[in-house]
Amino acid sequence: MEPSLPEVNLLLSGGIDSTALAAFYLSRGVLVKGFHFNYGHPSFAGEKRAVEKISSHYKIVVTTIDLGLQIFSNKGEYRCRNATLLFSAASISSSKSARFAIGIHSCTPYYDCSQSFVNDIQRLFDGYFNGSIQVEAPFLELTKGEILSLCDKLKVPVKITHSCERSSDIPCGECLSCIDRRTLNEDK
Ligand SMILES: [Zn+2]
Repeated sequence: MEPSLPEVNLLLSGGIDSTALAAFYLSRGVLVKGFHFNYGHPSFAGEKRAVEKISSHYKIVVTTIDLGLQIFSNKGEYRCRNATLLFSAASISSSKSARFAIGIHSCTPYYDCSQSFVNDIQRLFDGYFNGSIQVEAPFLELTKGEILSLCDKLKVPVKITHSCERSSDIPCGECLSCIDRRTLNEDK
């Protein structure tokens, strides 16, 4: 039997970070399977358009999951979002062992973008799955600028990504993702 390719389940949002993470894994010969979630957020439609382009660019199979609930957002911080998405992805997987990756990075003020969050998720996965399910966040210590440099290096089509957290169409210009994106454009 052929050895199976290493494989990772990646949370895609259509944004720069998760797209760069897809490129990062693919450049290392890892097969990427995408998950995109609708959690009642205003930017879902815009994200979906971007995810479809990313999926066809990289030939990634993407599963879209409608959570059927609206995650509460307090000034851009979605309550329990990353935990909800990781556990939802893990809960529908029938694999005995699997890796789940998320494109969180440094310089973000939220608990669910921190090393403690990753450790806490891993602890719960270990409780449920006895060490066979891993959470990965390879960009945890990278700044947004470092992710953009990686995008240049890996020729990530940043233009097809969607970043605004508040709008599917015209970027609001005010959310953390819009501010990040503007800073990046100014730095270029
Ligand atoms: Zn915005």
